[in-house]
Amino acid sequence: MRLFECGTLVPGCEWHTRAQDDAEVVRRAVEHMRGTHGEEMIRQGTVEKIKARIQHENGVEAAA
Ligand SMILES: [Zn+2]
Repeated sequence: MRLFECGTLVPGCEWHTRAQDDAEVVRRAVEHMRGTHGEEMIRQGTVEKIKARIQHENGVEAAA
């Protein structure tokens, strides 16, 4: 599983998401940025920042 914690990008935000692949994590994170942090225009830089902060979680594949 891939994990993105918004707090790594927006200090203090507790939101996080998990998905099987990076594309889905990015999609959800962008949605969250728009809805919660009011980022109307998601710039390429934002997507790159999200990608750079995605972590790999070992051992949770089977539970998904
Ligand atoms: Zn957030």
